[in-house]
Amino acid sequence: MAEIIFENIIKRYGKTEVIHEINLRINDGEFMVFVGPSGCGKSTNLRMVAGLEEISGGKIYIDGECVNDVPPQHRDLAMVFQNYALYPHKTVAENIVFGLMKKNLSKEEVEKRLHEVAQSLQLEEYLNRKPAALSGGQRQRVAMGRAIARDAKAFLFDEPLSNLDAKLRHSMRAEIRRLHRHLKTTTIYVTHDQIEAMTLADRICVLRDGYIEQVGTPMELYLNPENIFVATFIGSPAMNILDAQLTTTQLQFSDELVFNLTEDQKQYATKYLSGNNIQAIKVGIRPDFVQDKHFASNSHFTTDIGACAVDIIEPLGFEREFLVDLGEQKLLARLDLRTQAEEGDFIDLSLDMSQIHLFEPKTQVNINRL
Ligand code: ADP
Repeated sequence: MAEIIFENIIKRYGKTEVIHEINLRINDGEFMVFVGPSGCGKSTNLRMVAGLEEISGGKIYIDGECVNDVPPQHRDLAMVFQNYALYPHKTVAENIVFGLMKKNLSKEEVEKRLHEVAQSLQLEEYLNRKPAALSGGQRQRVAMGRAIARDAKAFLFDEPLSNLDAKLRHSMRAEIRRLHRHLKTTTIYVTHDQIEAMTLADRICVLRDGYIEQVGTPMELYLNPENIFVATFIGSPAMNILDAQLTTTQLQFSDELVFNLTEDQKQYATKYLSGNNIQAIKVGIRPDFVQDKHFASNSHFTTDIGACAVDIIEPLGFEREFLVDLGEQKLLARLDLRTQAEEGDFIDLSLDMSQIHLFEPKTQVNINRL
């Protein structure tokens, strides 16, 4: 069990700084996911924790100890990679117990640990096979088994599911979640897939260009993104970002399309406008917070948008995505099956104004943060 702390961490490759003084505390037992687009620094951060990359500035603490100068094999961490990194000539059983050899355990203890791990990962019937005779999902389970068997202070996962097909990824996600609930080992998990981040994490750290954009629970990021980057990176389909004008009491998309702000929004709009009557603003609306007016039974959907022309409908199963015209702009709404409108029809929509976000156009920061 271990807390992991990043204190003013900097990473440079040659003269190029790729991680810019980041600070982060990962709590004991927490499942922290690093997510962000390719090249944002996820793997570099993970590899600095593992000791596979030198730290250019700042300190990393594991379990209270600064590990900057501790070699990887003495950090007592277990790492699971995308390419599994199994020994091809060893059996599943030998692969799983490999990391135990240095621990001076008795033969009985090693056997016991092996069978516990094999049972929890449903690998018992494959123990004598070589990795080549396993499917991708099974190999990944062996790689996880090896990490678990070692009973390490923390688990580090580097995109472990990205080589698996969608269905297998889904079931492995559930397996990893279940394992973490059972073992409660501090975990850092790197992925570029926001759905994986949302479903696995206790907290998510969103990175971009070597900076932390926001850290929070999946729901905090979903419902209260600090900026447009997080707002559009987290959530699928992405949040709509529209242009409007903001006054201290209203949001104006055009002369006809004018919505009243909630009391909270009025407060931070007033602060943001600081004496100006009106200012351009970016408006964030999640497709989930728009509804067909006739079925908007939820009392939060109180703001009528009026009749919008339906441009495109995409079926998703129970829900469908409707791309509609909102004045001159397009709005994506996720509506349920009861909605009868077809492409080319008009549809009355309402929205949950309390879930609308207002972003400063230049800095792209949510103005409720200013
Ligand atoms: P991610 O895991 O988010 O895709 P990385 O941590 O691999 O991103 O990379 C972060 C940045 O560091 C990128 O700009 C990448 O090009 C750069 N980088 C990574 N490894 C090296 C290296 N060995 N030498 C030089 N630059 C590197």
